This record gives sequence, C-alpha cells and structure tokens, in this order.
Amino acid sequence: MKTEKKPQVAVVGAGPAGLYGARELAESGVDVTLFNRDVKPGGLAEYGIYPDKVAMKKGLRKQFKKILETPDLHYFGNVTVGENADISLSDLRALGYQAIFVTTGAQGTKWLGLPGEDQTGVYHAKSVVYFYNHLPPFSQHEYRFGSRCLVVGAGNVMIDIARYLIREAKVDEVTALVRRGPAEIKFTKKELAYVAENLDLDALDAEIARCADNMIEVGQDPQAAREAFLAALPKAAPKVSETKFRFQFLTSPQQMFGDEQKMLTSVEVEDNKLILKDGVTKPRGSGQKRVIEAETIIFAIGDKVDENFGLPVDKWSEFVKNEHPRFPKNEKTYETYDPASESVIEDIFVAGWSRQASDGLVGYARKDGTNGAKAILDYLATLPKDDTSASALVALEKKLASLSKPIVTNEAALRLYQVENEETEKRGVNDFKFDQNEDMLKAIGL
Ligand SMILES: Cc1cc2nc3c(=O)[nH]c(=O)nc-3n(C[C@H](O)[C@H](O)[C@H](O)COP(=O)(O)OP(=O)(O)OC[C@H]3O[C@@H](n4cnc5c(N)ncnc54)[C@H](O)[C@@H]3O)c2cc1C
Repeated sequence: MKTEKKPQVAVVGAGPAGLYGARELAESGVDVTLFNRDVKPGGLAEYGIYPDKVAMKKGLRKQFKKILETPDLHYFGNVTVGENADISLSDLRALGYQAIFVTTGAQGTKWLGLPGEDQTGVYHAKSVVYFYNHLPPFSQHEYRFGSRCLVVGAGNVMIDIARYLIREAKVDEVTALVRRGPAEIKFTKKELAYVAENLDLDALDAEIARCADNMIEVGQDPQAAREAFLAALPKAAPKVSETKFRFQFLTSPQQMFGDEQKMLTSVEVEDNKLILKDGVTKPRGSGQKRVIEAETIIFAIGDKVDENFGLPVDKWSEFVKNEHPRFPKNEKTYETYDPASESVIEDIFVAGWSRQASDGLVGYARKDGTNGAKAILDYLATLPKDDTSASALVALEKKLASLSKPIVTNEAALRLYQVENEETEKRGVNDFKFDQNEDMLKAIGL
C-alpha cells in the first residue's frame, strides 16, 4: 500500500508563536522544520520576561521541551533565515517547503529619529532587555547606566527596565517620560508593585497636580489616576535600593545632547497638552521645551518587524498582510501580501509579534501561533497531492552542512536545558544561563 507523503512546512522563529504553531502543524500531519536564530528556543519567553520570574520561565521551558519531543518537528537552532542570512525565503521554497510560517517576533528597532540618538547612553529597550536576560551577543555589549536614567514609555516593558535599573543597577534616579497623562498608563498594578516602594510620592503628587487642569478639561479624574498608582503599594516588593522613581507626564523627548566624547549629558523634552477630538484623547506638543539632565535614556516604545527579512513592510513597519484573508481565524489575517504585484503571497504566513509587533503576552502569542498554523492547514488542503516531491529535510541538511557552523537539533537543545539545570543546582543560583553561544555550544558538545 502506498503511504501518502506529508506536506512540509518551514516555521521560522522558535518563540512562543513558532513553537506552539509548529506543534499544531506537526500534530496535524505536517512534517515541520523549525528554524531559530538563537541557539536556545523560547524567544522573548526566554530572553524578554524578567529574569526573576523564574517559576514562569521554568514552566514555559517545560512546555517547550515537550514541544521539542513532538514527532515530525525538527528544530534547527543557530540558523538565521532572511535576506543575506544563512537561508533565504527563496532557498526555503527551492528546498521544497509548501508553506513558510514566519514567527520571528519583532526584531526591528523603532527609533523616533531624534537628533542625538547616536550618543552613548541612548538605548532601545529590546537591547537592554536582551542584555540583562543574557542573550548573546547583547549579553556581551557594554551599557552605560548613569546615576540619572530616563525611560520613555508607559507600558510593562518600561516598568521592567525601571525594575532592572532600580533593583539591579541601583542607580540614583529613574524617571519615566510619558507622552500622555497620569490616567493613561498602560502598565499593570502587579508590575508596578516590583518598584512601587521606590516611588517618590511627593514628586508623583506634584506631577499629577501639574497635569490636573488639563486632565479635567478632557474628562479625566486626577484623583482616580493617583489611586491607580497607590493601589500597587500594599503588595509592593521590599525595597532594595534608594533609587528615586519618578514620572514626568505629558512629556516627549525631542533631542539628546552629549559631551565631546558623545556621552549623553541631557535630553530636551517638549511638554504636551491633552486634547479631546471626536471622543479620543490625544497628546499634542505645546511648543514649551525644557532640558533634563541624564546620562542614560532608554526608549521603551515598542518594536517593529525586521525590515531586511525579505517580506514587504508597510508604513507602520509591519509585514504587509492580506486584508481579505482566504483563511481567516478569529477574524484575523495570517496571510502576507505583496503590494508591488498587488497579490497575496500564497505560501507565506505570519503570526505572533511578527503579525503584530509588541502585541500581547505569551498566552496571546501561543494562541496566535496556533491560529496561524490552522490557517496554513487550510491552505495546504487546497494544494494538489504531491507524493513525488523530494524530502526538503534531506536537501536542507546538505545546505546546512555547507554553512560550516554548529547547528542545534532537538536533542542538542534538550541537552542544553539539561546542562543549564545542572549548573543552576551546582552553583546554587535561581536560574543559570550561558551568556555566550560558544559556551552553550561547547557545553552540549558542538
Ligand atoms: C521586556 C518584555 C517582557 C515581557 N514579559 C512578559 C511576561 O512577564 N509575561 C508574558 O506572558 N509575556 C511577557 N512578554 C511578552 C512575550 O515575551 C511575547 O508575547 C512573546 O514572546 C512573543 O512571541 P513571538 O513568538 O511572537 O516572538 P518572540 O518571542 O520574539 O520569538 C521570536 C523568535 O524568532 C527568532 N528569530 C528572529 N529572527 C529570526 C530569523 N531571521 N531567523 C530565524 N529565527 C529568527 C528569535 O530567535 C526568537 O526565538 C514580555 C515581552 C518583553 C519584550
């Protein structure tokens, strides 16, 4: 009896979206090849989530290990896909994959394009987060965390950065620069609790008072905004530094100034005013500018996709998607689109932070990866059966051998988890991680 050949799909990126998506495909009868730039799987679940959230990270790793044991799911870590990378999208097509699932996260950096962004001391949140989470090569970069640090943003990532500066770097002052008002913060009470004991409450009151008239004008309640901050205090983590944590609302950075060595010394900011238009509150520059002295400024304003990956990108720096999906899931599109030819890119799908940058937590990326995989299954069902095509995996192995670099297979990734666990025990630390690829590879015999 002739057995039917399985469809072959390449999944690019082994963060939560890629891992759960790959599992969905493999468990639905697809032969899956999962590529990952990093040696270790997990993406931001491994290298983004705050290092102290050890139980959460260990729980996720346990699930990822299980995924790596799924039959017909072949992991290839330390392999970057893209233009001018180890393997391009056209290579993948030539190897014989019927579909490509892009779950590479949001690897581009969203700069505002302000003068002085090249000064030492000006950073983007992602690289700082990768640094303190020990992701090579960011783990090896030097960062200048001065005594006065500014963090731009009002979300959980801003709080994570503040948490690092307050609880690990223990700098003197951390000031969050927030474009909008005190009533429009995006971080949760739970996240604020990690740094709430360091809040400079007098400064917070003064700042809310400064914004109060404008808030009332647009229908916001300054008192309720204040209470939202104070609500984090009852469960606040014990203080470990004397860092003063402050907020400056209705403030946008304009340019950065440095000394002769290009070391950041100060930041010019513009005050904003909230305006209400068609029922929506928006911050508008007031023209009023002032200068804040600081040695470090970190932009926690979200990320964008990698524009050099090889897929068309729109003006919001997202991969262009098919607005009229053939296989929608939960009314969302997972399909890519080429505006130049005005046609759907039939065989390339996106999910997770590659579908929408900086959107949602791990649970959301998991669901998105699974839904994207379901859209691919629908697409595969439309293809004619082809029992004659060669195995993409066999051709891939030849291609990978020509790269002359260590390739991390399922077994090797599982071994890495094992070795790091043993090191954690041996060293009596919370969570040991190698911070250089060479060390990881050596530890697993590659
Ligand atoms: C600072 C921070 C803190 C967070 N904290 C939490 C938290 O506490 N709890 C929570 O639930 N969520 C948290 N999140 C959100 C969570 O991490 C994301 O929702 C989730 O990781 C997104 O998954 P993803 O698979 O889409 O992308 P990612 O996790 O970014 O994974 C992308 C993967 O693709 C790989 N890759 C990239 N480019 C290529 C390429 N060209 N070729 C091959 N592989 C490639 C990368 O190596 C990576 O493994 C946090 C995020 C950040 C930034």
